Amino acid sequence: MTNDNNTASSSSCFSELGLISPLLARLVDLEYKQPTPIQAQAIPSVLNGSDLIAGANTGSGKTATFALPLLQQLFNAKSSGKPSTNKKGNYAATLVLVPTRELATQVADSIRSYAFHLNGTVKTVAVFGGVSVNRQMLALRGGTDILVATPGRLLDLISSNAIKLDQVKTLVLDEADRMLSLGFTEELSALLAMMPKQKQTLLFSATFPEQVKALTSKLLNNPVEVQVQSADASTLVQRVFTVNKGQKTAALAHLIKENQWRQVLVFVNSKSGCSHLASKLAKHDITAEVFHGNQGQGARSRVLQAFKDGEIEVLIATDIAARGLDIEKLPVVINYDLPRSPADYMHRIGRSGRAGEIGLALSLIDYEDYHHFKIIEKKNKFRLEREEIAGFEIDESLIDPDFSANKPVVPPPGSGKKKKAKKAAKKESSIYADIWSGNVKSDSK
Ligand code: AMP
Repeated sequence: MTNDNNTASSSSCFSELGLISPLLARLVDLEYKQPTPIQAQAIPSVLNGSDLIAGANTGSGKTATFALPLLQQLFNAKSSGKPSTNKKGNYAATLVLVPTRELATQVADSIRSYAFHLNGTVKTVAVFGGVSVNRQMLALRGGTDILVATPGRLLDLISSNAIKLDQVKTLVLDEADRMLSLGFTEELSALLAMMPKQKQTLLFSATFPEQVKALTSKLLNNPVEVQVQSADASTLVQRVFTVNKGQKTAALAHLIKENQWRQVLVFVNSKSGCSHLASKLAKHDITAEVFHGNQGQGARSRVLQAFKDGEIEVLIATDIAARGLDIEKLPVVINYDLPRSPADYMHRIGRSGRAGEIGLALSLIDYEDYHHFKIIEKKNKFRLEREEIAGFEIDESLIDPDFSANKPVVPPPGSGKKKKAKKAAKKESSIYADIWSGNVKSDSK
């Protein structure tokens, strides 16, 4: 953890964080025994009105980190007869911006759940695209205390005068990196321009690329900084299995059956890849459902609920499921395809081993993935021992000897680094030979 002088010291008890009794009672109902590190570090500062930058992923308990203190502020203001806004027009007192529809629903549900003992004092509305706008307009009538929104739909609602942002007292940017990487930069600037300058801002991001850094320096005022790991290293086990090219599906089916996994989230890189893998698994007598951006909102919600309820054992998803989805106690996450970005690897594996539960994050790599997996390890600062699955041992004769020469270590023509790159490729080639022969220790970084 890194934090500045303002940061609260760690606390092992919710009652020490300054939360009011109706919220504490709800935490007892929910069987939250103690605050997660981010909650312990950030809740007192948020209650005091400080701005916050938190390096945290879903799974860290970040929703409660902002929801509990914000609910408390709103509840106290209302109970004291001094509401935090003057409630003109279609006001929103607190705005929580999230990148996806799923996250909008999930965050709003969590907020309503935490507010259970506040006797309906705090109104929460979620708005997001992909569904009819009319019901959302109705819900916004008379304004709302907390608005959870995706940027595009929020702009639509603003342009039809269903909501205004001029009374926003607190802004939460949830998964800021995801929001910017999904191309919401312009929407975000437009929305920020509509809010009062003076407000409390809380920014949560799993990673801090330049764009996010620029946003934080522009937006935040002397913020408290909290950095926590997305998944508890002691409860999330990561493993990587080397398999022959063309044998991933058989190896996956074997693992699912052998281990009798009952709730597995499998990541692939494309929408068509989801259905393709599902039909290949069907040939191994494994029924799987798919979850991707081409499905309608209704279908996605149904599939997700069935998966959460344990009715679907294998869910094959694109990265749309990598962030924000909170599936309680998800035991196994598998990378069938490696994610393109090392940051997405962390988001994917963060679906498992959540809030202290034991989880397994497993990647299947064939020789074409090897180089990329090394990059993922390097960027995320971990190193896993390559393992083989009994019955699926590596057959070196299947490795394309020319493969490594085609890898991106060769720079584009004209860059003047060809010789060096060829040498690197040759070295890489011998590393491949080592890895497939099981000589993993020789794979020095
Ligand atoms: P989040 O990171 O907000 O998506 O939360 C991840 C999961 O952890 C959710 O299922 C929460 O209900 C749960 N959770 C959050 N805080 C705690 C806590 N202090 N103790 C136990 N579970 C928690």
